[in-house]
Amino acid sequence: MERKLSFRCLIALGTAALLLGTAAVPALAVAEEKSSPFDAPGVYRPSMPAGSEKDPLPKTSAAKKEVRGPSDPSYKMDVKYDSTKHQINGTLTVRFANNLGMEMKDIWFNVWANAETFRENGGVVEIHKVKVDGTAADFSLKGTGLHIKGLSIPENASAKVQMEFTVQVPEAQDRFGWYGTTVSLGNWFPILAVYDDEGWNVDPYYPYGESFYSLSGNFDVRLTTDKEQVVAATGTRIGKPKVSGKWAVHRFKAKNVRDFAIELDPTYKVKSGMAGKVKVNVYYTEKHAKFADAMLESGIESIELFSEKYGQYPWPELDVVSMEGWFGGMEYPQLIMMSLNDNRTEEWVKSVVAHENGHQWFYGLLGNNEYDEPWLDESFATFSAALYDGELEDYEVPPVDDPYYHLSSPVSAFTARGEEGIYAYYRMIYGYGASTLNDLREKLGDRRFYEGMQTYFQENLYGVTTTRDFIDTMERTSGEDLSQFFHDHRVYLSDQE
Ligand SMILES: [Zn+2]
Repeated sequence: MERKLSFRCLIALGTAALLLGTAAVPALAVAEEKSSPFDAPGVYRPSMPAGSEKDPLPKTSAAKKEVRGPSDPSYKMDVKYDSTKHQINGTLTVRFANNLGMEMKDIWFNVWANAETFRENGGVVEIHKVKVDGTAADFSLKGTGLHIKGLSIPENASAKVQMEFTVQVPEAQDRFGWYGTTVSLGNWFPILAVYDDEGWNVDPYYPYGESFYSLSGNFDVRLTTDKEQVVAATGTRIGKPKVSGKWAVHRFKAKNVRDFAIELDPTYKVKSGMAGKVKVNVYYTEKHAKFADAMLESGIESIELFSEKYGQYPWPELDVVSMEGWFGGMEYPQLIMMSLNDNRTEEWVKSVVAHENGHQWFYGLLGNNEYDEPWLDESFATFSAALYDGELEDYEVPPVDDPYYHLSSPVSAFTARGEEGIYAYYRMIYGYGASTLNDLREKLGDRRFYEGMQTYFQENLYGVTTTRDFIDTMERTSGEDLSQFFHDHRVYLSDQE
């Protein structure tokens, strides 16, 4: 159990530290947090929890739906990836509506590709020009925060931000990086931050897990790259690649997705199958050919299983791509990255594909603030993999002893405790969280548990959920007061309030 728990959605550096056990503190996460430059008014700075056990607040009647915006983002990108320079150049245009209930005087983007962990490996992002509704705007990029200032976007108006940007892709076996012939473009472009009751959410990049948070929208992406590249991406391919000289132009469109990832490799082969009406494509290198069938089988079976248990996978396609490495897997909407090496087994590959596919529901379709409430996607994805693996009957992971760590703790609570905190993050957010959901399933019985999950899915599809939403839904659909259950499992609503 522990062995499996330690390999999901991690990235290389974090897992190395864990495996070696002696490596230095997760300096990156802590350093980025300390040097967080986001001290402008209205910017949300995560506060460190006091460390004492908190009582849950009274629930059910106090549920409130906060404003989250800017709403209805629609991205258009025209970018070129040059495989010899490992560089992306292009333009991004995003339209959105100002639903914040006030004039927008500034706006933030998260530029995750500019995180320190990537810069240490040769990556860097440059923003060259920014226009808002056609007029040049004042902006600054510091770390992963792009701040556009001096705006006056009226309440309820729609607006358009355009920028030119360059991304140097680092050499790394990572969700963002190139290695050998494979290029993994996760979190590679400036993405709108979310404004909610905490202000703008411009949290630090978390290299040991996920700290992403964005709203669902539409994407129209034109990618020019070397014509030999085989390209997998979020969304659906529009037309055939247009070849001109040494370049080919690919176009993809995606609806109701909160991110857009791309994977390229000129040596990729493709295997496909159907999960009902959903096409599942596996992109694999020759070296990983022995795992292609396992990836396809798990992709198809887990779409079918989770569609039945939670709600139908609504997108037309899912791509599972192989890459070199040992961090496990990473999910993006409609795209799963699998980092493989010779030590992997088919069983492991299937289980990790199922975990990442679980994230299509928990984060992809039902979004959450991964920095504030990481358990809302990670525990649910781990539970989903155990469901797929047929392991729920004897699934039991105890929490860490230290009551400082809650299941509902934000990422900052874990990073504040250095290496010990990173271990606690994996134990609590992956293992104990999945175990808690399984305890809830056993308490309510399969029928009431999955009915609750289906209601949770239908009511929050393409939206953003909170711990309060989940508890309220499960209480409402089951007709049970679950406050003692969640309290006993260290789920404290006061974390978010
Ligand atoms: Zn995960």
